[in-house]
Amino acid sequence: MRDLRVSVTDRCNFRCLYCLPETEEAADFYRSRLDGLRRADPSSQGATPIHRQWKPRSEILDFEEITRVVRVAVGLGIEKVRITGGEPLLRKGVEQLVGAIAAIPGVLDLAMTTNGALFAPVAAELRRAGLRRVSFSMDSLDRENFRRMTGRDGLTGVIEGLRQARELGFHPVKVNAVVIRGMNDHEIHDLVRFAVDEDLSLRFIEFMPLDSSRTWQRELVVPGREILHRLRERFELLPVDSSANPSETARRWRVAGGRGEVGIIAPVSEPFCGHCNRLRLTADGKLRTCLFSLDEHDLRPLLRGGGSDAELASHLRDRVRHKEAGHRIGQADFVQPQRSMSCIGG
Ligand code: SAM
Ligand code: SF4
Repeated sequence: MRDLRVSVTDRCNFRCLYCLPETEEAADFYRSRLDGLRRADPSSQGATPIHRQWKPRSEILDFEEITRVVRVAVGLGIEKVRITGGEPLLRKGVEQLVGAIAAIPGVLDLAMTTNGALFAPVAAELRRAGLRRVSFSMDSLDRENFRRMTGRDGLTGVIEGLRQARELGFHPVKVNAVVIRGMNDHEIHDLVRFAVDEDLSLRFIEFMPLDSSRTWQRELVVPGREILHRLRERFELLPVDSSANPSETARRWRVAGGRGEVGIIAPVSEPFCGHCNRLRLTADGKLRTCLFSLDEHDLRPLLRGGGSDAELASHLRDRVRHKEAGHRIGQADFVQPQRSMSCIGG
């Protein structure tokens, strides 16, 4: 395990269809797509309202607790830390946490994933605090479609944020786009062109069953192979060698003659569980050894009950030994985790 993803809040200012949908429009989209398809998971009928999914503040780890877990995990071999959420920039003072984590010897790579809406005003401060890489989520370049997908009229803010990041020297500036059939798959070429023009590392991500409405259907997933095929109809793509990093989740290409990079992350159609090196810490202090774990391991009793670093390390080691062999999407016994991506930390 080399990569720790730290969720600093389970709250979010966006309502992405594939993560934390709330609007009637979102429900309508799914209903129209699902007509004639298999029915959605029956447990979606009683989905918990969003505000009731949020944990009370007292259950959320404070910065000292988070920094301690990261320090102990780094002592066990973690090298990369990504701050995420929910929307990490909603967490007050997150730049102080960035500074504290950046100062831990052994943290070789510190990054953040954000929806970008609140990034531009704090970008310089985050950079000064030691953040080096940032990934923005941007699924559409069409203002109206962006609003449909995220529940917010936020496209301009994200573009402003990612340009600001580039100017401040964050490198690479990544853009994540979750591709949903019938929703934004007609935009994949425009997104690539944008990445080339703006010198960005674009990642297309397959839609995973981690949405709070539990409406995910395989038919809505555009398999990585299809994305690649459709891109090749318009672009000459040159493979980027990633053999140096065996845990790389994306297959990557350069567009011939252009800047930036395009990657495809296909956890549903081409799982990479066998070489996964990631752990996740939720905002409320639960260790997750897989995005699709059905068990979470609560670190708070140790953190708040006087546990020593050695005990914490032993607990982490023990949990990692029992890491799942893989997700079971597509298998008859697959069960979607209780919490959505926004709570787990993507
Ligand atoms: N709020 C921040 C953001 O959107 O970038 C950080 C948290 S978000 C949960 C992290 C990443 O997870 C985003 O890039 C988002 O697109 C991705 N994500 C969320 N739900 C997903 C799903 N059901 N399938 C695939 N990716 C998903
Ligand atoms: Fe919020 Fe990120 Fe989930 Fe969108 S993907 S709802 S921005 S946590």
